[in-house]
Amino acid sequence: MYYGFDMGGTKIEMGVFDDALNRLWTKRVATPKRDYLALLRVFTELTKEADNYFNCIGQIGVGIPGLIDRDTGLVFTTNVPCAKEKPFVSDLQDYLQRPVMIDNDANCFALSEAWDIEFQQYPSVLGMILGTGLGGGFVLNGKVFSGRNSTAGEIGHLRLPVDLLKILGFDIPLLKCGCGQHGCVENYLSGRGFEWLYHHYYHETLSASQIIENYYKNNNNAAEHIDRFLRLMSAYLGNILTIIDPHLLVIGGGLSNFDLLYSELAKQIPAYLFDIAKVPRIEKARYGDAGGVRGAAFLNLIH
Ligand SMILES: [Zn+2]
Repeated sequence: MYYGFDMGGTKIEMGVFDDALNRLWTKRVATPKRDYLALLRVFTELTKEADNYFNCIGQIGVGIPGLIDRDTGLVFTTNVPCAKEKPFVSDLQDYLQRPVMIDNDANCFALSEAWDIEFQQYPSVLGMILGTGLGGGFVLNGKVFSGRNSTAGEIGHLRLPVDLLKILGFDIPLLKCGCGQHGCVENYLSGRGFEWLYHHYYHETLSASQIIENYYKNNNNAAEHIDRFLRLMSAYLGNILTIIDPHLLVIGGGLSNFDLLYSELAKQIPAYLFDIAKVPRIEKARYGDAGGVRGAAFLNLIH
């Protein structure tokens, strides 16, 4: 059996998968964000419960909202402060008495999608999460490509390219990002950024879903905002796709449900690519919020 854990800032979800990758079991518990020993105990208890139920010793994969230093085994995560700069992998292995595979949650998302039956035909898959933030993961030949520092695929931390500055105006405030830099695209093109841009141009605080609702009611500001956002996203993806050149782009997160994205991106992106380049297939994530758990479970299949 394969046990996948998706550790988020509010909950930890566990999924158990059989050899045919069918999900047989799901559990969700609150994340003990500020108590490291309690956090380790949650993993121990869930694992014991599944081991007993399925009468096996499951193989464990964990997706975390952060980065892993592969040299030291330390993890860096702001959403679960108690695990920050802790040797989380070796501690989990001690507690659970077995090897533990661990990766960034956006990488797990991308892996889950790349392993979809229909998508397995593509040798390279870029997963993009348009949630509160803007996350990304890159899968090459069925394996996560995470690079020297585990930052490969961190497409939200590209600083604003010139194409976007032309649309936004060169005087756009360069917002401080959680990563420490200024002007990362995540602060403008994520769900949070979508709302920030609306406020920046129209001085009104609305949620992303309210803005989209207004768009469908033919509200002028919302229409102008969405038009600008789609141009920004196309220019941004033009840059990203030129560099990574994946066969498939899969989009997840809350904003991925805005269907206009798919038709408009396919139309607008070519203006930002090399003349000979084709837009890759662009698809909405097949597994929604379940992708993190699925991908975490599959980490044991690929090493
Ligand atoms: Zn950043």
